[in-house]
Amino acid sequence: MDIQVENVNYQVKVLFTEAELKQRIDILAQKINTQYSAEEPLVILVILHGALLFAADLVRGLTMPTEIESVRLKSYHGTQSTGKVELVGAIPPGIRGKNVLLVEDIVDSGRSLSFLIPKLKDEGAKSVKVATLLDKPSAHQVPITPEFIGFSIGKNFVIGYGLDLDGRYRNLPYVAELVKY
Ligand code: 5GP
Ligand code: MG
Repeated sequence: MDIQVENVNYQVKVLFTEAELKQRIDILAQKINTQYSAEEPLVILVILHGALLFAADLVRGLTMPTEIESVRLKSYHGTQSTGKVELVGAIPPGIRGKNVLLVEDIVDSGRSLSFLIPKLKDEGAKSVKVATLLDKPSAHQVPITPEFIGFSIGKNFVIGYGLDLDGRYRNLPYVAELVKY
């Protein structure tokens, strides 16, 4: 498959198949299970829309009581980050005194998480940790270290399994990178 973005042609190259994603996410869920008490509720805060598919698969492997909430952040247009992060709507109530696991699709510059984490602490979260499907360590602009990382990848723009290109391709069952010809 090829994609054209702003008159540039990209080759769509599969990075992680459906089976590879499932296998890795099962391992991440087991790791998360060992890091929290089995009785205390964990607030799963899904960062929409990108983390929707990852979160849906991840929570099925968690064994502690969970409360699933979501927030929406806006920061991206096309394949270029605008550098500005906005919260769309409010932080869900009921965070005070709770352990919060932020579920993110990908950490790129790190700005989204460094914007959101202090807000959750201000709301009285007992702890805030991050589970991200993908991490682009070479793209970080602010220091951020997710506790649970699915895969570390290079700088290329990726789509699929929740990740979009201007709203499309989230439904692809695999993660693919856009490679310039
Ligand atoms: P940040 O730069 O704040 O770490 O990344 C913010 C958001 O930009 C991510 O949560 C994700 O939604 C989006 N993003 C970053 N890199 C990519 C990418 O390669 N592909 C897609 N589809 N979205 C990305
Ligand atoms: Mg995201």
